[in-house]
Amino acid sequence: TKGVPVVASFEEMNLKEDLLRGIYGYGFEAPSAIQSRAIMQILTGKDTIAQAQSGTGKTATFSIGMLNVIDTKKKDTQAIVLSPTRELAVQINNVIQNLGDYMNIHSYACIGGTSVGEDLKKLQKGQHIVSGTPGRVCDMIKRRNLNVRNVKMLVLDEADELMTKGFQEQIYDIYKTLPPSTQVVVVSATLTKEVLVMTNKFMNDPVKILVKRDEVSLEGIRQFYIQCEKEEWKFDTLCDLYDSLTVTQAVIFCNTKKKVDWLAEHLRKANFTVVSMHGDMKQEDRDRIMNEFRLGNSRVLISTDVWARGIDVQQVSLVINYDIPFAKENYIHRIGRSGRFGRKGMAVNLVTEEDIGELHAIEKYYSKKIEEMPANFSDLV
Ligand code: ADP
Ligand code: MG
Repeated sequence: TKGVPVVASFEEMNLKEDLLRGIYGYGFEAPSAIQSRAIMQILTGKDTIAQAQSGTGKTATFSIGMLNVIDTKKKDTQAIVLSPTRELAVQINNVIQNLGDYMNIHSYACIGGTSVGEDLKKLQKGQHIVSGTPGRVCDMIKRRNLNVRNVKMLVLDEADELMTKGFQEQIYDIYKTLPPSTQVVVVSATLTKEVLVMTNKFMNDPVKILVKRDEVSLEGIRQFYIQCEKEEWKFDTLCDLYDSLTVTQAVIFCNTKKKVDWLAEHLRKANFTVVSMHGDMKQEDRDRIMNEFRLGNSRVLISTDVWARGIDVQQVSLVINYDIPFAKENYIHRIGRSGRFGRKGMAVNLVTEEDIGELHAIEKYYSKKIEEMPANFSDLV
């Protein structure tokens, strides 16, 4: 992206002092590439599209931009972040609270699957920032539990997912209620032309920081495939890999909730320890499994694409695609659950003869060769 200045340190960003303390207190020393370019851009108040590879610090990019414009003397909600899953909305809220630790910031995760009464209570107390899923946020605005009169910024994280997975209407509904001057910030690792056209409807001459498609894939994540003669053989292949999975932490992706349940059940029957989560589970169970996995108490998690986007668990070093994802974008998001912030990561795709075509299509899409898994794989983990 031409013409966007690069700022080498957080000090040079003219941030509020208590925010700067929060950034250093959280353990950040220097800004990542996207942070060097996009934070100052967001602070100009202009609508901004910020694309960067997964795991490169986009959350802090918009969170710092947002925290810097919050007037903590006022109780009003001044910024809203929308994201596609409840777990991600909660994670973003945690980052905001950490970075805003010295600012006396009130922020709240407003998500589905939880008590509306509790939301009302928390929102009535006054929340400077609301991080939520589109459905619940929309609902809270319509019920007049969330007052958006003084909102200055709207962030769409994983914007392409939000714009294409049935959230559009809720997002437009939310957008319509916001003051016309609201700054809009669109964020994702993957943004197609179609998505950029869609977001144009509520952006005014946005500044664009983009990544070419052949640069979206991270060098630090090694990608392999294992050819399995038939679908049933994937299971045995996975069992053989189990020891490698537990070296740090691993996520196994399936394309359907049913398959997640099936795989978890069969692995347990074969005496492997695994946990699983998907969108049909009760929120309290999802929360419990998420917490256990974040703490490292469980090491192997099986999930659907509910886990593909944004979730940041630094210890994940291996991703297995038991199924090749339906959407090419989600391939890069899934493997990006490993290799966070420059760490080493690995992705293994289990493919039958029928799937191999899809894998080649992904290779072509990202201009990236996916090698057959070498015999010394366990040494690489
Ligand atoms: P993205 O949204 O781009 O996929 P995240 O915002 O989830 O990435 O950040 C990935 C990881 O990098 C997180 O664990 C975050 O704490 C860490 N991180 C982000 N920015 C910095 C920084 N400037 N210094 C050190 N770690 C950082
Ligand atoms: Mg993210």
